[in-house]
Amino acid sequence: MSRVLIIGCGGVAQVAIHKCCQHPEVFSDLCIASRTVSKCDKIKEELKNKTKTNITTKQIDANDYNALVKLFKEFKPEIVMNLGMPYQNLIIMDACLECGCHYLDTAAYEPENVDDPVWRKRYEQRIKDKNFTAYFDYSYQWEYMDKFKEKGLIALLGCGFDPGVTQAYVAYAKKHEFDTIETLDILDCNGGDHGYPFATNFNPEINLREVSSEADYYEDGKWIRVPAMSVKREYNFDGVGMKDMYLLHHEEIESIAKNYPEIKRIRFYMTFGESYIRHMNCLENVGMLSTTPINYNGVEIIPIQFLKAMLPDPASLGPRTVGKTNIGCIFEGYKDGKKKKYYIYNMCDHQESYKEVGSQAVSYTTGVPAMCGAMMILKGIWTNAGARTVEEFDPDPFIDALNKYGLPITESYEPIMVE
Ligand code: NDP
Repeated sequence: MSRVLIIGCGGVAQVAIHKCCQHPEVFSDLCIASRTVSKCDKIKEELKNKTKTNITTKQIDANDYNALVKLFKEFKPEIVMNLGMPYQNLIIMDACLECGCHYLDTAAYEPENVDDPVWRKRYEQRIKDKNFTAYFDYSYQWEYMDKFKEKGLIALLGCGFDPGVTQAYVAYAKKHEFDTIETLDILDCNGGDHGYPFATNFNPEINLREVSSEADYYEDGKWIRVPAMSVKREYNFDGVGMKDMYLLHHEEIESIAKNYPEIKRIRFYMTFGESYIRHMNCLENVGMLSTTPINYNGVEIIPIQFLKAMLPDPASLGPRTVGKTNIGCIFEGYKDGKKKKYYIYNMCDHQESYKEVGSQAVSYTTGVPAMCGAMMILKGIWTNAGARTVEEFDPDPFIDALNKYGLPITESYEPIMVE
């Protein structure tokens, strides 16, 4: 029996809310707090008479520290699940420390305004020191390690699918399949079709910033930078078929490289169709992906936020998306002195997800791990205090929960490797 507060009520949060409500014995009291409270009220209404979880709703602006602390003190959650935007990760972590709550999110901190001079100075220094250029990195949240440890609290960072489950796959492979892992390729395939010429399957701002940025991978202790979308491979995905995939920077590369230094090369690939890439390039070329405010007829607008308002809401794609996702990790390494390959992945069907919780599979594959991660903390299965990523915890109970609650694994010992 636990009190849980979810911040945000978009695509991912709506799945997590449904899944928490399937387990009222763990999630007995749920407060849904978001910027637009009508979205919280709508899902509360949908779940009326379908769950024993007691749901309340609140309006909150997560940029308002005093409002966060007031809400946490009133509701007294054991855990706060930040399923809104990564811009607010740090302020919510601070409020959790003040109020004695565990914390969970699904994306690494990045600033809303990448032109902020204080942030920019540290960013430029990071490029010089580490040579990776993504706007997000874990350094800001890892600085909370001791503060969370001192209070005996857990900040579970990046507990969606990727980041999240992909790191549990790494810990699982190391625990059960390998003595040493040498290479890791993380493959994220969305074989879904929503029928729009262009739409993103999760928050458009975060998605487009991630995909349009310079790419990189990690090899022999160094980041190797390559231009955005310049490395393309084809892969035949189980349940989906042949797809083009592109090398991207992704946040779990950073934490896996830190926690599993034995891995010599870590790469991340994501599939994209022609239409997505054509639209994204065009939008970038005309400046629509910019986070720098511009003045339009006396009104200040941020181009990427304006674009977000024009695009379909990811939470609305559920009824029209068909096909499957396939996300997993391919390893090469050694077991008992012998070279070995291993592939572990999950396939998730968009329409099955929609039937179960009213959302497409990209939100589903993120919201289910968020619920399972919170469950690990609330049941006292994961107890290691500090600000930590998923690969730092025992993968077995988490993967058991994913198997049971909607994201089962498939394994292969003869995978086709990525060149
Ligand atoms: P959405 O845009 O659908 O939802 C975001 C929600 O956060 C909205 O309800 C929004 O409110 C709310 N919100 C935004 N700003 C504030 C604020 N200042 N105060 C309170 N609430 C706020 O995003 P998604 O659900 O698609 O994504 C959620 C998170 O999950 C993102 O960080 C994304 O990067 C991450 N993600 C992680 C994945 C993984 O595998 N790890 C995969 C996919 C997504 P409003 O309704 O008013 O706009």
